[in-house]
Amino acid sequence: MFRRCFLVSLTVLALVAGQPFGMLSGDSGLAVFSAVAAEPRCSVCGKRISGRYIKDNSGRMFCSKACYERTLPKCAVCGRPAKFSSGGEHFCSEKCQQSKWPRCSHCGKRSNGGVKRGTGRKFLCSECAALPRCFSCGMPGDFGRFADGRHICKACNRTSVNDLAAARDIAEEVRALMREKLGLGTDNPIEYSLVPQDELKGKTTHEAQGIELGLYRFEQMVESTTTTTTFLGKTESRTDEEVKGESHKIYFLFGIPENRFREVAAHELAHDWMQKFYPQIDDLKVKEGWAEFVASRVNILYGRPEMNMRMQENPDPIYGEGFRMFKKISESPDPKALFKFMERENEKQR
Ligand SMILES: [Zn+2]
Ligand SMILES: [Zn+2]
Ligand SMILES: [Zn+2]
Ligand SMILES: [Zn+2]
Ligand SMILES: [Zn+2]
Repeated sequence: MFRRCFLVSLTVLALVAGQPFGMLSGDSGLAVFSAVAAEPRCSVCGKRISGRYIKDNSGRMFCSKACYERTLPKCAVCGRPAKFSSGGEHFCSEKCQQSKWPRCSHCGKRSNGGVKRGTGRKFLCSECAALPRCFSCGMPGDFGRFADGRHICKACNRTSVNDLAAARDIAEEVRALMREKLGLGTDNPIEYSLVPQDELKGKTTHEAQGIELGLYRFEQMVESTTTTTTFLGKTESRTDEEVKGESHKIYFLFGIPENRFREVAAHELAHDWMQKFYPQIDDLKVKEGWAEFVASRVNILYGRPEMNMRMQENPDPIYGEGFRMFKKISESPDPKALFKFMERENEKQR
């Protein structure tokens, strides 16, 4: 961009070289003129102009460079005359511009390139965004690595559940809360285990987007006896089935941070409840949607509704859409809508 100043005098000492927002900077960029006979006044300080003066491209006159600069846009950071504008704001220098950039929540450096990630939508510079992710929260997991290859961040590691007794205590605490506050409880004797990632994956029958943190497994041992009888030359056989035993198991991935562990426990315990009261439901979206919905209610009971953003935004067609389906049904004016829905699902032909 190049702008020519309006000339009032023949004694032109400099032309105006355009800067990003159209005005000049530096000594060479100012248009300086000799005063004319009419004795004009500085449009900033009002002083009578004599000798050399400055005129801008809208025709205003100034007694000095200092007065002229007072009319320029101010730096959004330090208030000094600005030299360029960026993103709708004026700045005097790159240093001032950079001081407006967000600070990376991980390394603390300011950066204008990066991403927002995690429950708190925390800003990460592009370097930190490229680090291996924490298996639980997705933030840079550079605190440590488990034997099964998962990375964990410092914050998640602080409450990481790695001990079976602790896992059982937390799961039973969640179970008691669900029974008391949500009316969801069973008397099933549940066996809890903490397992590495490969083992959990090996037991999972369906793939979800992202990492699985827990699993509920219900098994029935059924003995079938076939009796053959011969009566008056005719042979008849009859098969009887008898349930000899049942097992209810919940597997947790080891190392889950405590708050997330409670959410996972609620999810798996919701499967246990559905297995007992609506055992015929076999639509995965209904099963997982229910488990996620119950987990979201438990997050609210623990005062952590922000954890439900993950479910709300989960693009998975089973987990995410199932959750949103249950949430919508729960908002129906009919207080029994959820149970009516599960009743209908349970009666569907397999
Ligand atoms: Zn002045
Ligand atoms: Zn500045
Ligand atoms: Zn960073
Ligand atoms: Zn983490
Ligand atoms: Zn599940």
